[in-house]
Amino acid sequence: MPELPEVEAVVRTLRPLVEGQLIHCVHVFHPIALKPQPTSRLVELATDRCIQRVDRKGKYVLLRLDRGLVTLHFRLDGQLVWFTGAAELLGRANARKNGVHVDVAFEFGKGALGFADRRHFGRVHAWESPNDSSGLASLGIDALSTDFTVARLRELLAESVRPLKDFLLDQTRVAGLGNMYSCESLWHARLDPRRHAKSLKPEEVRRLHKAIVSVLARALECCLHPAPDFRDSQWWFQGLEKILRAYGREGEPCRRCGAAIQRIEQSGRSTYWCRRCQK
Ligand SMILES: [Zn+2]
Ligand SMILES: [Zn+2]
Repeated sequence: MPELPEVEAVVRTLRPLVEGQLIHCVHVFHPIALKPQPTSRLVELATDRCIQRVDRKGKYVLLRLDRGLVTLHFRLDGQLVWFTGAAELLGRANARKNGVHVDVAFEFGKGALGFADRRHFGRVHAWESPNDSSGLASLGIDALSTDFTVARLRELLAESVRPLKDFLLDQTRVAGLGNMYSCESLWHARLDPRRHAKSLKPEEVRRLHKAIVSVLARALECCLHPAPDFRDSQWWFQGLEKILRAYGREGEPCRRCGAAIQRIEQSGRSTYWCRRCQK
């Protein structure tokens, strides 16, 4: 599931391809990807509009148009596919032979960008303004932004009695962390994921902030080398498991103290952590 670093890597790779490009045509192959919005909304809002800037907030990709914006959210395994032009797009989209799954595509003068999610959890939405999107409007501080400071994190933690792990997953507080990087941040900060958010001492808040920032920076580096390849519909991020210290390592020795990494369930999600050195 793409979290903040994966989406940031997608955005950085996408910018040179689509910024400044005019959307000649919007192709909607599977309208489910636009739900609950009707097909007409995206088509009317985006056709003949120019993509001025590509941004990211939390796990959303924002295509800022000269009027309005389009948000892309990948959910579990949505992805982007690049086509050399309308001919390739129309020849291959959902075709039986040499086909590629495509739900929605934006056609430009020099290529076409497809959004694809076989499981149809991912969404493409059109908005007049960012404030019209309840998903965007409810997002908390982006964990890679300069607004994400120790002081701000301390305030947010102090307002919450939830377990640390649940606090980190809550996109309305700190936006961008999913299950994987929440577990990793808590391991690096040596904090017990079950502790109440407001119980952290100033020194522990500093450690958690530093851990989140460094975990995301390292993951982003990994996501950019190699960078996403939108030409390959099978492409996915490589090598992230090399940087993981807790996530997915149940029963394996903790890289810090040697005790076995444990898996527990919190709010229906798996938490991986070291019972010995995370206090
Ligand atoms: Zn589809
Ligand atoms: Zn340990």
